[in-house]
Formats: sequence, structure tokens, C-alpha cells
Amino acid sequence: MDAAEFRRRGKEMVDYAADYLENLEQRPVYPDVEPGYLRSLIPSEAPTEPESYEDLMKDVERVIMPGITHWHSPYFFAYYASASSYPAMLADMLCAAIGCIGFSWAASPACTELETVMLDWLGKMLQLPEHFIAGTQGHGGGVIQGTASEATLMSLLAARCKAVRRVQASNPEKSEGSILSELVAYTSEQAHSSVERAALIGGVMMRKVPTDSNYAVVGDDLKKMVEEDKAAGLIPFYFCATLGTTPSCAFDHITELGPLCNKENMWMHIDAAYAGSAFICPEFRPLLNGVEFADSFNFNPHKWLLVNFDCSALWVKKRTDIIGAFKMEPLYLKHENQESGLVTDYRHWQIPLGRRFRSLKMWFVFRLYGLSGMQAHIRKQVALAKEFESLVRADNRFEICAEVIMGLVCFRLKGANELNQNLLERITKSREIHLVPCQLSGRFVLRFAICSRMTESRHIQQAWRHITQMTFELLQEPNH
Ligand SMILES: *Cc1c(COP(=O)(O)O)cnc(C)c1O
Repeated sequence: MDAAEFRRRGKEMVDYAADYLENLEQRPVYPDVEPGYLRSLIPSEAPTEPESYEDLMKDVERVIMPGITHWHSPYFFAYYASASSYPAMLADMLCAAIGCIGFSWAASPACTELETVMLDWLGKMLQLPEHFIAGTQGHGGGVIQGTASEATLMSLLAARCKAVRRVQASNPEKSEGSILSELVAYTSEQAHSSVERAALIGGVMMRKVPTDSNYAVVGDDLKKMVEEDKAAGLIPFYFCATLGTTPSCAFDHITELGPLCNKENMWMHIDAAYAGSAFICPEFRPLLNGVEFADSFNFNPHKWLLVNFDCSALWVKKRTDIIGAFKMEPLYLKHENQESGLVTDYRHWQIPLGRRFRSLKMWFVFRLYGLSGMQAHIRKQVALAKEFESLVRADNRFEICAEVIMGLVCFRLKGANELNQNLLERITKSREIHLVPCQLSGRFVLRFAICSRMTESRHIQQAWRHITQMTFELLQEPNH
């Protein structure tokens, strides 16, 4: 393909993408294929000779589309939102064209510098404390990670390194191995699985803190565990709080937990992967109070802030905590400006070396939507969730299982778990809408998350009609 053909095909591809998104609601949201479906549809070897573009694009419809779960369908209500916007898609094209690998300042100064400034812009939109903003007198700053899972892992590894150094400073005879075996991290029993996974990868013990009746961790419960563990000779070093848990969008009480962590010399990381985007709205910002006690804070603009995957924003209070934990300086990566103290080399802030120019997506979205456009997006989706909540509340066969604060409604049919499992099975098989379940207090619960930017009130009304129809059919069955 030469530049002339790229121009033509590129324009066609933009049309294909726009047609796909505009007509998405006509496609079944959930695919009707069996595992292994794809292998039989394409040759078992790569072609020896080049093929035509037309043939390739025909196969996109024949081979790929039947196996897509359409995350941006207005009838997709599973997991949490995954961001999609035209400005972000255009920025991704530009990112691919530039194609730089911005691991150090010198490897593409604009890639590093735009990222630092975009994280400052975003941090200011969230009214983060000054110490997280790079362009101030503080010692902190932001970085784009691929996912919240990586951000959590980075924070845990930085905390681990800091704890080992602190213990060794007062007990020089103690080996790193013996310190590691005494370290203990904490998180909510409602935390995302990636938090527990970070502890597994980091090779440290992690304990799950029980939650209150709202599925949130409160200060006293963490305090009790920390005291038990200290009495047993362990070293508490890390707590990962969640703002907006994955099962039910619950908020840990960080105004109590933060001071406790600070007092106990424990690193507090905040995982706000989904809910973080809403903190750009003043009415939701109080839920972030207590962030001033955190050592690191993370959320995913790629979930709810219109910046397509991948873009997970991580801020640290002290840059040196994270950089100091992972620094490696082979000669081929050195550059003349790095000793000046004026440059950031993001390779020290992350696990991989290579990194894409992801801040372009943020810049395009922030400028073309403006803060007001992004706030309008959040508010609209919260209003749709409230609309769905009222439909559920008006039907006394159903119950709401957790307070609806943002774009997630947890609900179930009153009665046995099995009944709800059967209902979800019917819904999934129908392929008209897509939901996933969660477990709350031992109960099987359906999660209805407002996900697509294209979801409107009529889709919510249609989804509820569909759910009540499936319920009607289920309750007609002889064994009920
Ligand atoms: C979605 C989610 C994650 C995982 O996000 P990734 O970016 O896919 O790693 C982590 N924590 C919470 C609370 C989430 O909702």
C-alpha cells in the first residue's frame, strides 16, 4: 500500500467506522458463536502472495463482526463503560502515524511533555491536591499507564521497595527476603481482582478487609486488622482503597482510612478506575475528599471520560518513590539532558520500556469537548441510571441492591439466587441487551451499567421492557 492508496482507504475506513457506530443498535449486542468459531472461517496459514484490500474488508464482515461483543452498542450494559469518542479515535490515528516510542524525554520530547501537562490539566479538573500536580513546587506528578491493574501494581511495588528500605535502615542485619515475608498489604473484600493479583505478582501477603452494609471499608475495620498483624510481628505497608467498587460502585471511607495509613507508615493507593471520571463534576467531587492523604491515585479516562482505551491516569505524591524503585540506566538509553533535573523519563514510571503517544487522545478530547462537554456526558449517563432505577423501583417484584450514585444499578428479582441466574441466562441468550452479574452479601445480583455514549432514554425503556418480558416468560414456567 502506498501513500496514494492509504489516502483513499483511510477515508473509506473512517466511513466504515462511522457507519458501524451509527448503525450499531441494529446489530445483536452479544455474538452467537461457539468457541473456536473463527479458525474454520480463515485459512490455516498466512498468505504467501499479497491479497486485495477488498477481499480483506469483506472478511471483516464475514469473520470478525459475527464474533464481536459490541461494547458501544446502546444496548450494552455489562461491566463498566469503555470510553469511545471521535476525537480520541482521530488522535489515535495521528499517534499511529507519528509512531514514536516515547520512553525517555529525548525519544520524543513532545510525547513526554504533553503527557505531563495533560495529567496536570486532568488533575486540576479533579481538583487534586497541589502535591500531585507536576507543574508546581510539589514533588509529585502524573503518568499514563495502560490499565488500572498496572497502576495498582506499580504503586504496590513502589510501596514495597520503600518499606524494605525503611526497615533495613533501622535493622541493617535483616535480609530483604525476611522483610518481604513479613510485609502485609490490605484491600477491601470488594476490591477488583487486579488488586489481589498485584500482591501475588509482588510476592507479598494481602489481607481482605470486610465491608460495612454499603460494601465500603471503614477506618475501624482496617485499624483492627493492622493492630492484630503488628502484634503478630508483621509489617503493614500498603492499603489499596477503592472509590467506586466494581460489583456495586461503593466508596471506601478514605477520610478515615487516609490518616490511619499515614500514621502507620502505610502507602495508601486509591483505585477509582470507573468513578474517578465523575469527580470532574462538583456534585461528585466530595466523594474524593481524603485524596490528600493518598500516596497515589488512579482512574481510567478510558472508562468514562471519552478517551478510548488505553489510558489510565496515575498520580503519585512523590515522584522519587516510583522512579527510585525501578531505575535502570543502560548506556543506550542515556541522553544528555537527563541529569539536568528538568526532564521526565517515563520509562522509570512503568513496567514496559516502550510507550505510545497516548496523551494526544486526552488533548483532543479535552479541547474538543471542553470540561463542560465532559461533565454533560457524565451527568447524562448518571441520569439514565436513575431513570432505570425508578423503573426497577416501580415494579415490586424487583429490589435495588445498592445505592445508585453514578451510572450503575444493582438489582434483582426478590427471591432465590437461582431465579436471578435463570433470568440472566435468558437475557444473555436473547442477545438484545447485555448485562453481567455480581455477588453482594451472598446474593446473585444483576448489574445494569450505563456504558455506551449512544445510549438514550428510549434504549433504557426498551431494555426494561425486555427485562420484564424475560421475567414474565420465566415466571410462566411450570416449576415457578
Ligand atoms: C475496571 C476496574 C479495574 C480494572 O481496570 P483495568 O484498567 O482494566 O485494569 C480496576 N479497578 C476497578 C475498581 C475497576 O472498576
